[in-house]
Amino acid sequence: MYELLLAVCINGDPAQCMERRLPLGEDMNMMRCMREGLVHAQKWADAHPDLELKKWRCVEPEEAAAGPVGAYSVTEVADGVFVHRGQHAIPSAENLNDTSNTGFIIGGDAVAVVDAGGSAVMAEALLAEIREVTDKPVKYLILTHMHPDHVLGAQVFKDAGATVIGHKKLDRALKARAQTYEDNLKRLIGDAGYAGSAIVVPDEGVTGSREIDLGGRLLVLEAHPTAHTDNDLTVLDKQTGTLFLGDLLFAEHTPALDGSILGWLKVVEGLKTRAVSGVVPGHGPVLLDWPDGSLPMVAYLEALVGSLRTSIAKGETMSKAIRTVGDEHRENWVLFDEFHPRNVTAAFKELEWE
Ligand SMILES: [Zn+2]
Ligand SMILES: [Zn+2]
Repeated sequence: MYELLLAVCINGDPAQCMERRLPLGEDMNMMRCMREGLVHAQKWADAHPDLELKKWRCVEPEEAAAGPVGAYSVTEVADGVFVHRGQHAIPSAENLNDTSNTGFIIGGDAVAVVDAGGSAVMAEALLAEIREVTDKPVKYLILTHMHPDHVLGAQVFKDAGATVIGHKKLDRALKARAQTYEDNLKRLIGDAGYAGSAIVVPDEGVTGSREIDLGGRLLVLEAHPTAHTDNDLTVLDKQTGTLFLGDLLFAEHTPALDGSILGWLKVVEGLKTRAVSGVVPGHGPVLLDWPDGSLPMVAYLEALVGSLRTSIAKGETMSKAIRTVGDEHRENWVLFDEFHPRNVTAAFKELEWE
């Protein structure tokens, strides 16, 4: 198998260049790649008018992986279920927003991708990993919720022919935030790193639950009430009992509240009795036990609710709460200073009206 490695630069800014990967499918040998490469490269360049194609070459995947994406990898967490573990980091030109977990499930005749990754570069790396294990078409891209680290690579899978599915409320949430998400990420990872990334609204929305069939392999998509966000969707692979929880579950990485803290606890409580073999969190290890894997996060959220209720009852201000509430959890979580104060702010606003 061979891939195209493209050298591209931002139009009008020859100083901003980078390499991009273009997976070509399993049966691609060197001769065929050389013969057809220009056509593929040109097609890709046409789809990315903001980038100028400098040159292309055929390489083996190992060589392509040595590029900007570095040692991108996936782990098979259950039969036919693969997960890439994102870094615990703020988006940067170095990590290209590789900051959340993504995965894919291979059925009898199609592949479903769960979350698109935080940039087009990451989505291309994931697609390359898919192509190393199967040449079945990527029929579905399922987005677990609106946050940029999970959705900004979506165009890559859309171009590969995937139907994009999300929570019924995802469409509106993305449209309202598209400009902000795009501007922020561009600033953080740079124009060259960002190129090809985009907010893509879903083709189909889920209310309640819905099954999709990958060919003898059923996935159950379930839309939840407001929790981490107002558009959280989980994906259950019935064959192996693996449940993708998106950001309804954080491990190691400080949870980030952007919906309702009480709603979040309620949704997790409701999922607790589900008989699953393992869960994939949005941030943290590729697979965790259930419900044990949720205990640290639930303890943090419950403590936040308890302390804030006390603080509010005493008539304390929000700024005092931000300085004091929950500080004892600092050593348990990565990126605590980046996310915890915002959680206190959001939870305070929610709880002061109880
Ligand atoms: Zn996330
Ligand atoms: Zn999130």
